[in-house]
Amino acid sequence: MRPVIITANWKMNTSPADAGPLAVEIAKATEVAGVSRIICPPYVALAPVKAALAGTDVAVGAQNVHAEAKGAYTGEISASMLVGLASWCIVGHSERRRDQFESDALIGQKIVRLVEAGIMPMLCCGEQLEEREAGAAVRTVQAQVKAALEVVLAQGGSLPDDLVIAYEPVWAIGTGKTASGADAAEMADAIRATLADLAGAAFAEATPVLYGGSVTADSFAEFMAEPAVDGALIGGASLKADQMSAIAATAAEAAAARAMG
Ligand code: PEP
Repeated sequence: MRPVIITANWKMNTSPADAGPLAVEIAKATEVAGVSRIICPPYVALAPVKAALAGTDVAVGAQNVHAEAKGAYTGEISASMLVGLASWCIVGHSERRRDQFESDALIGQKIVRLVEAGIMPMLCCGEQLEEREAGAAVRTVQAQVKAALEVVLAQGGSLPDDLVIAYEPVWAIGTGKTASGADAAEMADAIRATLADLAGAAFAEATPVLYGGSVTADSFAEFMAEPAVDGALIGGASLKADQMSAIAATAAEAAAARAMG
């Protein structure tokens, strides 16, 4: 059975001083059975958040990593630098694809680096509004996942068992609009079809697929009602303990129902 996962992406919010207390508040507010929790603060807050969460089972994630292992890349952070600070790392977030022009090949290279360092990758994918309106959403997302993971296969031989995919339609991120539960489930199935082609049906079936894009306490239940969707990557609402508390409660209900079969 796949885990139910809720991931907080704090983006470029919080400071080293206030991130630890917020992480503790969210950890307490989301303490429920059967749900894996990950908090991804900015780089400069990784150490205080890690320290603040000691003794809890909330994992810490980074929001990005460089595609090279080391070298003359001023201002960048390598996978090995994250060891001890983060057990997860988001890659391929649409804001980085948009602002840093990250390609699928580069994102795949980042996953290679994370695997080398023993850090679990959360690969983001998602279509633009025009692609959805043109009926190309599934094709676009499948192509993103395939292109990134083919880089990993070409260099490493196999895909990491702890891979998580976050499906985030770009038009839904930070806009207050969400996909429907049915659209998210259709995309999760399509992503698993691509994973099955790349690494076999068992790998695809075992890989969690999260939904992201304006998830709130109000919208989350629609996604958790879909057996193909295993949780959420949450941006704006993840900075609010009351929102995260309600999201965790919904996740726990879904996890319990899934455990019952
Ligand atoms: C995200 O940061 O991945 C995200 C989905 O943001 P938001 O929930 O604010 O749309």
